[in-house]
Amino acid sequence: MDYLPLFFKLTKQDVLLVGGGNVALRKARLLCRAGATVTVIAHKVCDELQDLLDENGGAAVIGEYHAALLDDKMLVIAATDDNELNQRIHYDAVERNLPINVVDSPDLCTFVFPAIVDRSPVVIGVSSGGSAPVLARLLRARLETWIPKSYGKLASLANSFRNQVKQKFSTVDQRRIFWENVLQGQIAEKVFAGRTDEATELLQDKISAEDPEHQTGEVYLIGGGPGDPELLTFKALRLMQQADVVLYDALVSPAVLDLCRRDADLIFVGKKRDNHAVPQEGINELLVKHAKTGKRVVRLKGGDPFIFGRGGEELETLKANDIPFQVVPGITAASACSTYAGIPLTHRNYAQSVKFVTGQLKNRTTDLNFDELVHPNQTVVFYMGLHTLPQLSQKLIEHGKPADTPAAIVSRGTSADQKVLTGTLESLPALQEKAQLPAPALIIVGEVVELHENLCWFGEEVLAQNLTPVKAEP
Ligand code: SAH
Repeated sequence: MDYLPLFFKLTKQDVLLVGGGNVALRKARLLCRAGATVTVIAHKVCDELQDLLDENGGAAVIGEYHAALLDDKMLVIAATDDNELNQRIHYDAVERNLPINVVDSPDLCTFVFPAIVDRSPVVIGVSSGGSAPVLARLLRARLETWIPKSYGKLASLANSFRNQVKQKFSTVDQRRIFWENVLQGQIAEKVFAGRTDEATELLQDKISAEDPEHQTGEVYLIGGGPGDPELLTFKALRLMQQADVVLYDALVSPAVLDLCRRDADLIFVGKKRDNHAVPQEGINELLVKHAKTGKRVVRLKGGDPFIFGRGGEELETLKANDIPFQVVPGITAASACSTYAGIPLTHRNYAQSVKFVTGQLKNRTTDLNFDELVHPNQTVVFYMGLHTLPQLSQKLIEHGKPADTPAAIVSRGTSADQKVLTGTLESLPALQEKAQLPAPALIIVGEVVELHENLCWFGEEVLAQNLTPVKAEP
């Protein structure tokens, strides 16, 4: 970050503006809007600038710039087309530790003017640090259309209740939760609809009714999808942006985690194979503990929370403790990995049904009904099956699945290092033995895997022929 965005209080502060033309006029308008007292020094001052200064208590001095003009000023802006003069002003200002902006000369600036979206008292500044002002302006134009005009009114309403809320809610956390509810709920909607009186009444009622010691928190059980952050739902993103606390698993990608609210406490609760950082009961307790202090707790899981995610168990604990919750589905690995690998899970000619099953074996055996898994015309997707692939392959073949059924491993699906390895039910374990594709990985078994060759569009291929050792001639 080359520049730190700060907002300057300029009301009744003296600012020196060197230059009297149109560029100076534009800067003077902004300075006057912020309530500054502007002194302009120039050989000639255009009429509009003179009028502006007259209206806003500024002054124009006709004459030559000299360093003494900088005395007692808060800010300096040079808007002349004389490079030498601009340089001099720059050095004089820097010598006095005065913030200086030289229009169109980023090298001579110690501060820059951002493109501004004004919803006073809410103000948004967009800056490219002087490197691409047009881009900053384009962004501003987008924000202009996106942020309701009445945000200013909403901020003013909040401001008029600030002291009351401060008295009622003693901690910063309590106040934040209260305001987040107000600014995103029914009260905000009333303001946007132009019904400020009703909004004021509702806000007053809400302050009176709420008990600071018993603000109820909420838990959002959110499916974070398989890795690519663009596969999150809008709802997931919105709730992640409201989180006070985030409990996340190993399967949640850093790019997804990065989209949670900046100030949220991030707590890793583990779940790499055989290495539970926090046991399931511990996770349940943590959820309850944080929600009971009024926090918004995001429980972020890889894929979909209800598919091999133990999401149901966590919700049962919340229900037993009367904690409100919402569940947001995510794109499950089978769906995401198959699409990113160009393997449609069903297809008119090859598969009329699909089964999602766990490949995890208990005590090296499995509860899976293999007779069901070997039916023709269906696709079987194994989650958590990378380590049991040899047994799975053997069992399926034993139960009658043809050994030459196409099969694939999709490793780290949807991420930048996605890899796909294809083979047959029989050959895949040996191919993986050589390829050593890393977890998390999904195994897809069925005729549909053949479509991959034609439809693959994302990530890297691992070609079987490069893995198969060339047999020595007898
Ligand atoms: N709730 C998750 C699944 C959790 S079980 C979901 O709906 O996707 C964990 C298993 O999911 C892993 O062992 C792996 O088989 C699969 N998996 C999750 N993310 C994956 C990814 N990006 N690529 C491949 N497999 C993945």
